[in-house]
Amino acid sequence: MSSPVTLENIRRAPKVLLHDHLDGGLRPATVIELADAAGYRDLPTTDVDRLGAWFRDAADSGSLERYLETFAHTCAVMQDEAALVRVAAEAVEDLAADGVVYAEVRYAPELFQERGMALEQIVEAVQEGFRLGERRAAEAGRRIRIGTLLCAMRQNARSLEIAELAVRYRDVGVVGFDIAGPEAGYPPTRNLDAFEYLRQQNAHFTIHAGEAFGLPSIWEAIQHCGAERLGHGVRIVDDIKVAEDGTVNLGRLASYVRDRRIPLEMCPSSNLQTGAASSVAEHPIGLLARLRFRVTVNTDNRLMSHCSMATEMAALVDAFGYGWADLQWFTVNAMKSAFIGFDDRLALINEQIKPGYAALMA
Ligand SMILES: [Zn+2]
Repeated sequence: MSSPVTLENIRRAPKVLLHDHLDGGLRPATVIELADAAGYRDLPTTDVDRLGAWFRDAADSGSLERYLETFAHTCAVMQDEAALVRVAAEAVEDLAADGVVYAEVRYAPELFQERGMALEQIVEAVQEGFRLGERRAAEAGRRIRIGTLLCAMRQNARSLEIAELAVRYRDVGVVGFDIAGPEAGYPPTRNLDAFEYLRQQNAHFTIHAGEAFGLPSIWEAIQHCGAERLGHGVRIVDDIKVAEDGTVNLGRLASYVRDRRIPLEMCPSSNLQTGAASSVAEHPIGLLARLRFRVTVNTDNRLMSHCSMATEMAALVDAFGYGWADLQWFTVNAMKSAFIGFDDRLALINEQIKPGYAALMA
């Protein structure tokens, strides 16, 4: 008898997360304590429950200004090494408690320099926090591994510097690079020198593309910049036509993405908040999964979207009737698409993921 696909059981299933922002995943109580320690007085409230609700509502509001304000608060309390160690360690503990066995967590080091920290200090503090979180999770009986992605912000002009930083730290857990921030007006080709450098260094990168902005952004990310994965990539559906009789027609870009098995780091709850879809049931992830694109499921910002890997998967189960085989497929897709080495990916699939789902399906 297979275990029922409930939220509680999904939490027990091994899960893999490729797209999660460190500054979008703080615990509300931690935001309040760090603000107090840093003398930051601009939080909308210092009540834990009300602050948690405020983050969610502000991200839900449809107002870009309020959405950006949420990150202004989290970044404001992450301006010293102790804060970064704590936030990183707690992120790992929270992911492990949710049943995540491997996660790539990303952040933009340049956002934590308001009080003068050097980029190296920032990276080293976050790495220390991740290792601490892994040890604490292990003590609690949970095995989790974290890979770090360093982001450059599209609106700034520091992508080559951040790409070099990612390469410098690649042997101590930084597994890749990304560009984040506003898509409109800041095409990925503005950062070509960074991507050329990374390719020459045989380094890995993904690009936030096709979230708010359409096909040109996805095309540039893949064909000009050489992105190995797409952050969101949800607008790839603009290149897919579904006729009334159900026949599906893929355009050349959609075909390329599917044929090349280019991973899509999809984040349904986050997309609902930014307006890229109006409900999970209407989210393109259903169609893209049915067409067997290399779809992965992700959280994006756990604090703002009030979600976890387990709740995200449970929402998909509700909307599309997925079973354990589907959830395993998403998980193996993500593990295959991770930026750690082939041997390590295979070991995680064979030693943790497959046995975990087999036990739930037995
Ligand atoms: Zn993102």
